[in-house]
Amino acid sequence: MTSADDIRQALPPELSSMVRSVRFADGVATIIADAGGLGRSAAAQLQKELETAASAVPGVAEVRVGLMADKPKRRIVAVGSGKGGVGKSTLTANLAVALVGMGRKVGVVDADIYGPSQVMLLDPARGRPRAEGKTLIPVECEFGVRLLSMAQLIEGGKAIAWRGPMVGQALTQMMEADWGDADLILVDLPPGTGDVQLTMLQKFKPDGAVIVTTPQDLALIDATRAIDLFSQAQIPVVGIVENMAGYICPHCGEGSDPFGRGGAEAAARALGHAFLGRVPLDMAIRVASDTGQPPAANDSEQGRNFAGIAQKLTEWLDRPAG
Ligand code: ADP
Repeated sequence: MTSADDIRQALPPELSSMVRSVRFADGVATIIADAGGLGRSAAAQLQKELETAASAVPGVAEVRVGLMADKPKRRIVAVGSGKGGVGKSTLTANLAVALVGMGRKVGVVDADIYGPSQVMLLDPARGRPRAEGKTLIPVECEFGVRLLSMAQLIEGGKAIAWRGPMVGQALTQMMEADWGDADLILVDLPPGTGDVQLTMLQKFKPDGAVIVTTPQDLALIDATRAIDLFSQAQIPVVGIVENMAGYICPHCGEGSDPFGRGGAEAAARALGHAFLGRVPLDMAIRVASDTGQPPAANDSEQGRNFAGIAQKLTEWLDRPAG
């Protein structure tokens, strides 16, 4: 059977070098090629040559060629925390859903090898990514978010046994996947400062990092270490989010602050970083997350809360350069 790889290999080298991706399904070959810097007639010529070469491959009934004038401007934002269990994955999933609601095209890379939970949060139907040659095609989730997770790439629960090179390879495959027209990739990093973080910083240099913490002092000290790592690598810190701040008792409605309150905002100020917002400790968030219904998908109080943080991230992404 004809595959996308067959089509790619059938293209003469001078054309092949300009091709960014080839897909093939139901007799239709879709070729995306780089036409950056080409004039109008040279681009038309390239299109014609690609159509001719691809339609000569047996099994190809139709060829569609998309020419990209410039490389898509895809931004990478890492979501990190000093320690596990502070709600980093919950925030990542909800930010992604809220950003899609604002018209962004968002991909999520779940690189948290110790607890890859994005599949549960975003894709309870558990789609499997496809592969074209060595290129992964992310899963399209119900909420319009594209997802690749360490959990999709390995047998259930074995990720923790992965070390160094394997983790680096998996991360690279996910980052270099065919993200289509996604203009933002959110990366759910494992907590702390291990192999994944280093590979991420060195190889993919995120545009910015969002740091999640709970309000208590110990979590803040860990968060400060995470911030130091990004600063050392000259990755701008977009800001700090305080999660599990303030608890409203579902029975009596009284508010309390089991982990303290306001610590992250004060720390952000002291460190000279923006404070992006506060998410209360709310049973509804935990329950919705466990059933693959991110609160950000609804017009609820919590949904608006996440939307507010997403809005700040959007403003940061769209800020004028300089
Ligand atoms: P991390 O990625 O930092 O390890 P998770 O996002 O997996 O943390 O969250 C850990 C647990 O806490 C999950 O069960 C999640 O549903 C729950 N959780 C996260 N944020 C909140 C919140 N604001 N209110 C209630 N439960 C939360």
